[in-house]
Amino acid sequence: MFSKKHRFFVLKRKYLILAACLLLVAASITVYFSAIRPAFLPKPAHVIVIDAGHGGKDGGAVGRITDTDESFLNLQYAKTLQKICKEFGFRVVMTRESMEGLYSPLAPNKKRSEMEKRQQMIEDANPDIVVSIHMNSFPSSEAKGAQVYYAQGSEGGQALADSVSKSLHQNIKNAKNTAKVGDFYVLNVSPCPSILVECGFLSNPEEELLLQDEKYMQQFCYHLFCGILKFQEF
Ligand SMILES: [Zn+2]
Repeated sequence: MFSKKHRFFVLKRKYLILAACLLLVAASITVYFSAIRPAFLPKPAHVIVIDAGHGGKDGGAVGRITDTDESFLNLQYAKTLQKICKEFGFRVVMTRESMEGLYSPLAPNKKRSEMEKRQQMIEDANPDIVVSIHMNSFPSSEAKGAQVYYAQGSEGGQALADSVSKSLHQNIKNAKNTAKVGDFYVLNVSPCPSILVECGFLSNPEEELLLQDEKYMQQFCYHLFCGILKFQEF
């Protein structure tokens, strides 16, 4: 016969063991689900800022044969990339969706006003990445090929730039193999991985025409996007 006191301790021990078992099960479930969660849950929609360079009075580089403004082509490429990103479920914030400049009309220094506006838009969007679109120009018409830039010291920017460079180099004629450090305002002020893509040279007659080809533009933006996707995997 157990004494009342003894029975109490046996009972208490049973509860303690039961509680310990429950805790163990709860802990195991937590560990199990936290370990496999990323594979089960869809990734949250990433926010991409697409920045079409120049605009308004600042047309940027000009094509030597067709007289096309860089600001116009930048916008076409930015919109094409926007469409692809949206189709794949990304949230896109455009810094510019028309040919209007981003500067305040009354600002004494329009370039400064424009860049500050871009910075403000990037900060407000709080994006995961920033992609700035430009067209290149060089005194010699020989220079050609897309080039991707990132800010000095930005590990994320470099990884994104490498990924996009690789995708473009493998699929787009003359696209440069390696990304470069570039001292650009939009890269320097972005608090997230950011790249500036010079899509090609308006000073090169062949590229000037190619850059305006609808099919080429679609291909270019698609492979730029594939580079972004590859970067997102990391
Ligand atoms: Zn430019």
